Amino acid sequence: MQPELPPSALRLDIDKQALADNWRTLNSLSGTAAAAAAVKADAYGLGASLVVPILRDAGCADFFVAHFGELSDIAGLVDPSRISVLHGPIDGQDVAYAKAIGAKPVINSLHQARLWLDGGGGLCDLMIDTGMNRLGVLLDQLGEDVLRSLDIDVLVSHLASAEDDIPFNEVQRNRWDQARRVIAHRRASLANSAGIMLGAAYHGDLTRPGLALYGGIPRLDMKSSIRQVVRPMTALLQTRSIGAGEGVGYNSTYVTERTMRVGTVALGYADGYLRSWSSKGHLIGPGGERLPVLGRVSMDLTIVDLSDVSDLREGDWLEIGYDLSEASAVSGLSQYELLTGLGSRFRRNAA
Ligand SMILES: *Cc1c(COP(=O)(O)O)cnc(C)c1O
Repeated sequence: MQPELPPSALRLDIDKQALADNWRTLNSLSGTAAAAAAVKADAYGLGASLVVPILRDAGCADFFVAHFGELSDIAGLVDPSRISVLHGPIDGQDVAYAKAIGAKPVINSLHQARLWLDGGGGLCDLMIDTGMNRLGVLLDQLGEDVLRSLDIDVLVSHLASAEDDIPFNEVQRNRWDQARRVIAHRRASLANSAGIMLGAAYHGDLTRPGLALYGGIPRLDMKSSIRQVVRPMTALLQTRSIGAGEGVGYNSTYVTERTMRVGTVALGYADGYLRSWSSKGHLIGPGGERLPVLGRVSMDLTIVDLSDVSDLREGDWLEIGYDLSEASAVSGLSQYELLTGLGSRFRRNAA
């Protein structure tokens, strides 16, 4: 028998209530449309098998993943016919797998439409490219027989710049509206998290928030309604006092100006705490103190200034400063990267 694993020195605390509340908020901001959930990339790094039941119990019925390999984690948790695979099939094996699970591929090209039909077809979604030039069929392809033969549930398109109020949003919306008139489908969907704030004309029947579910704030006008969901925590491995003029960490990029107490925590760039946080990030002490990162972040370790807290001991837990808007501004990483980068050494813990 394998010995039982001790708890990890890294923990990702996920606030269940905040996650469910964010879905309800986004669902009500979506007006007459229902909010689905983008749970690709392991629910933006939070853990899809943990997130999906919480969203399901809050009332969410439709889910989007990117890869077929992401289906297995969640297919047993919700009605598989309400899970869409955004990448669409690359070959007949993807088609066979989707059919065996009972999930829907999002068809992105004429080739994918043929693959799906050759594999027996059935309910699917269709992605229209309305100007992002990434994935999807073009408006002038909508008359093709192979697309007309599809049994389309959700007619999907995706906004390139929903976080900005620019005229291109309306260009994309007009093209999506045009597609809705041209090809038969059951439901239409355009808006991601930010797109929900562009108003009712962007809602269709289904919105597809991801980032904001998990506490990300893509637009300032969402700040007051979205709650923080994720709190990464790390354990203190060692503390020490060092004199003035001492270098800290690799290459001594931080040199002490006075005697100070420092602590080393179990967190590094291998955990997604990238070197862009070096001398910029902070941890949060038990009384809310800001404990600045000193010097370089290394692969598994980060050193912080403990001068403002006196009673911390080895093994104590500290919160990593991860307010997504602020963290994005400080680190230069997007809120999406900040979430999806959190590595597998964090033990996901929903409470
Ligand atoms: C990722 C994704 C979403 C969710 O976008 P957010 O900006 O995270 O809300 C919606 N639709 C598609 C097609 C996506 O790829």
